[in-house]
Amino acid sequence: MFNEEEFLKVKEKALENHIPIIMDDTLSTIEKILKEKNPNKILEIGTAVGYSASCFAKNTNESCIIDTIEIDEERAKEAIENIEKIGVSDKVNIMIGNAVDILPTLNPGYDIVFIDAAKSKYSIFLEEGIRLINDSGIIIADNVLYKGYVMSDYNKHKQRTAVRHLREYIKEVTENPNLKTDILEVGDGLAISKVSKK
Ligand code: SAH
Ligand code: MG
Repeated sequence: MFNEEEFLKVKEKALENHIPIIMDDTLSTIEKILKEKNPNKILEIGTAVGYSASCFAKNTNESCIIDTIEIDEERAKEAIENIEKIGVSDKVNIMIGNAVDILPTLNPGYDIVFIDAAKSKYSIFLEEGIRLINDSGIIIADNVLYKGYVMSDYNKHKQRTAVRHLREYIKEVTENPNLKTDILEVGDGLAISKVSKK
C-alpha cells in the first residue's frame, strides 16, 4: 500500500533541506508519459532521497521495477528508509555509487530512463541511456534549461561549465537521428526524447 502521508513528509523534508527534487509541473508531465507508456522497467540516475522514484512507483503498474542510482551514501540510505516507509521498496531498487561506473554494468531493457544527476555527466548518461533503453522507449532529462542560464548569453563563471554541458546535451538529443526530442519549459526544463533505433 502506498503511504500518502509518509510520501508527503518525504517531500516536505526534502524541500526544507533544499534537496532538488522534481518540481510539481515536471512531475505532472512525467505522470502523463507513465500513463501513456505503462512501463515495466524504469532507470533513474539521481535518487536523492527517493522522492521521484516513489512518484514513479505510485504511477506505474504493480510489476514495474524502478532501478535508481545515487552517489551520495547518506542520501541513498535515507532513500532506502523512505521507500520502506512509503511502501514501495518492492518496486524500487536503489544502487549506491557513481552512475558513470554503474551504468556500464547494467543490462538493456528499460522503457524509460530519467536523467537527474550531475549536469557535467549528461552526455555520458545519454550514451548509456541509449544503450540501455528499449526501442520506442523514452529518455527524459531534468534541469536542461537550468534556471534559464542555458538560454542566456551571459552567465557567471559558476554556472558556465554546467551550461556548456547542458547545451551539449540538447545539441546531442536534437541532432541524433534515432531520437525525437521536445524541450519543455516545465520546472527547470525537461528534455523528452523518444527513441527509435531503426
Ligand atoms: N531525482 C530526485 C532528485 C535528484 S537530485 C528527485 O526528483 O527526487 C540529484 C542527485 O544526483 C543528488 O542526490 C546527487 O547526489 C546525485 N548524483 C550526482 N552525480 C551523480 C552520479 N555521478 N551518479 C549518481 N548520482 C549522482
Ligand atoms: Mg532535477
